[in-house]
Amino acid sequence: VSRFNDITMAPPDPILGVSEAFKADDHEMKLNLGVGAYRTEDLQPYVLNVVKKVSCFIYSCSCLLHESVLCVYYICFEYVLKFDITFSYKICRQKILCWNGESISGTGSLRLAAALIERYFTGSKVLISSPTWGNHKNIFNDARVPWSEYRYYDPKTVGLDFDGMIADIKAAPEGSFVLLHGCAHNPTGIDPTPAQWERIADVIQEKSHIPFFDFAYQGFASGCLDKDALSMRLFAARGMELLIAQSYGKNMGLYAERIGALNVVCSSSEDAKRVKSQLKRIARATYSSPPVHGARIVANVVGNPDLFNEWKEEMELMAGRITSVRKKLYDSLIAKDNSGKDWSFILKHIGMFSFTGLTEAQIENMTSKWHVYMTKDGRISLAGLSSAKCEYLADAFIDSFH
Ligand code: PLP
Repeated sequence: VSRFNDITMAPPDPILGVSEAFKADDHEMKLNLGVGAYRTEDLQPYVLNVVKKVSCFIYSCSCLLHESVLCVYYICFEYVLKFDITFSYKICRQKILCWNGESISGTGSLRLAAALIERYFTGSKVLISSPTWGNHKNIFNDARVPWSEYRYYDPKTVGLDFDGMIADIKAAPEGSFVLLHGCAHNPTGIDPTPAQWERIADVIQEKSHIPFFDFAYQGFASGCLDKDALSMRLFAARGMELLIAQSYGKNMGLYAERIGALNVVCSSSEDAKRVKSQLKRIARATYSSPPVHGARIVANVVGNPDLFNEWKEEMELMAGRITSVRKKLYDSLIAKDNSGKDWSFILKHIGMFSFTGLTEAQIENMTSKWHVYMTKDGRISLAGLSSAKCEYLADAFIDSFH
């Protein structure tokens, strides 16, 4: 008998299962609204032009290929100082101390931060929104960090349960970590307004909580990096200490390169140095150092004003395509549906996702009858929709909702 015999089967990943079922379907109108990855109007993956340019440059510099340029040592945590777009080019100038550490995309940054919390804030809870990206619970469970939920989604309005959110953050034990989606909340597509962010910051400050931003979609909410960073800049401008787990997966289309950054903003440089030393230590024992290729791509784009501008333009185009299919889907629904149902949530939601409020049985109808694939919580990714298929999706919705 094998000594691995007692290991039970892990449950299948809910999102990967959706993609596999989609692949096996050969209907011409099929739609994969399950995966949160950007697609072109032809529903194909997109490689950004700036990424192509920079990759050619990197491959032409053979001396750059396999070691960090900074040192003979190959650990590349601080490979490029201007690496982080959330902070370094605006907020650090205001003398807020922070550590930008390259990390293994958004997930790796969250997991690194979770390890720090587990070690140095023993017993502290992380508050997560209900609902949230499915992996948050996995990550904190895996790191043995206790978590609880704060209200976020209001099914009655298909909008934000702001009073519930504030009440739950207030009721949590002092000094909890509050995980916030920096923009383009996953899975709901519902973001607080600037005034609501101020109020959230007030309560977090009153309770001496620590804000912890998951920033996986910078640029995908409004099409503008700066506008999308409003939430965390507002907290930082108050002098609050905070954590930010940043991903470059989506906004630079570098999904599989696994590149992101963990930023910890501390109120003294001494604290920042110590935090940094411990994060490096945790990383060293888990994955040693992050991959360098994605970091070089990001660094070269962010560090070159022309490429940086070109990237911003491409991001505007990507976000713009999503906004335009939202509008077309909404218009098709309004034109076809005479039931009086309020479809305006489609326009109000922001970023790739919308939370539709479809029940499991309705989702089953979407898939079995209409070949539309989505996650079981009723989330759709508008990135997987083309204008050519908006009317078809509207028909599927109307049929499934009624
Ligand atoms: N956070 C949220 C809210 C996400 O939706 C995702 C990806 O779907 C991530 C973090 C992690 O992204 P990655 O690890 O691919 O950068």
